[in-house]
Amino acid sequence: RTRALAIHDELTGLFNRRFAFQLLNTEWERSIRFGNTLSVILLDIDHFKKLNDTYGHLTGDDVLRQVSKILQESVRRTDTAGRYGGEEFLVILPKTDENDAAKVAEKIRSSIAEHDFGVAGKVTVSGGVSCTDGDFAKRPADLIAASDSMLYRAKGQGRNQMLVFGSSMPGIMKVD
Ligand code: GH3
Ligand code: MG
Ligand code: MG
Repeated sequence: RTRALAIHDELTGLFNRRFAFQLLNTEWERSIRFGNTLSVILLDIDHFKKLNDTYGHLTGDDVLRQVSKILQESVRRTDTAGRYGGEEFLVILPKTDENDAAKVAEKIRSSIAEHDFGVAGKVTVSGGVSCTDGDFAKRPADLIAASDSMLYRAKGQGRNQMLVFGSSMPGIMKVD
């Protein structure tokens, strides 16, 4: 149990931040060694503070668990979903290019938007996607920063959307 807690987030069962970052570093090295692309999705629940204030923190916790379950069901077994912070999540997609990462991000977004969260009703997420094939990233943190900047922009543009760093993915906003 101690070993499991060292790498997992207790509330959601996802990998914790520390372990997710360790995996990101490993996948980064692997992507360079084998010449594969690596993508990262960062997402954040919309208006989560209001949800807590309206329905209470136990309902908030339940929403975090349900979002985590959807995340895990939306990604491949070789992908990693982790809890980045309070209501923020990180998905690491090895051997995945920008377009495929955008599709996964959109699948996550729509699955959550369509899900019935019970007491909490409807919940949406905003997110950012980035990929090493844009050639801007010099280290793993650059992917996080790029996804984070797109997440920030998604919030500003009305939420419930996934923006891709420097992409031309149809249906998903192009951002340079
Ligand atoms: P935005 O749409 O801009 O993301 O707004 P927001 O309200 O989601 O963002 P904000 O950062 O203001 O609020 C995040 C909230 O998440 C505040 C904090 O109390 C709550 N939170 C963080 N961790 C947990 C947790 O483990 N359980 C519960 N129930 N709430 C949590
Ligand atoms: Mg947040
Ligand atoms: Mg939020």
